[in-house]
Amino acid sequence: MIKNALDIGKAVARLNALVEMDPDGMKSVCEARTPVNPEMAEHKDLPVLVAKQGEQTFYLMGPLGLVNYLFGMDQDAGMGAIAGIFEVACGKCGLLGNEGQVVGDVCGACGGEIELGDLIEFTITPQGREAIARDEQV
Ligand SMILES: [Zn+2]
Repeated sequence: MIKNALDIGKAVARLNALVEMDPDGMKSVCEARTPVNPEMAEHKDLPVLVAKQGEQTFYLMGPLGLVNYLFGMDQDAGMGAIAGIFEVACGKCGLLGNEGQVVGDVCGACGGEIELGDLIEFTITPQGREAIARDEQV
């Protein structure tokens, strides 16, 4: 079925149906990054990761960036309407991270590095909820 209009809540529900179907596959899809040109990185509504390695600069975009390009970005918050919720876990001892811990943090139990865990679900960000409350897109 082709849709002329899709609101944020329905988009999240459709994405979560895919997470339920194949959580590992959807995690891989979300982690994919594709090189784009600098002009794409300068676009204000397009979340593009800028990474430097020595003298070289890389511009990388992921699929969730494309989704949030469609629904819009809150420039001040640097956040789109939809976010992926991932577990974080210690790469050394496997202990699940606490709320607020992010990738690269140090594990309190063993000193290992906290890494990205399973994709739990997609969710509407606070910026997305504000847009819904205003009955408009971010
Ligand atoms: Zn650990």
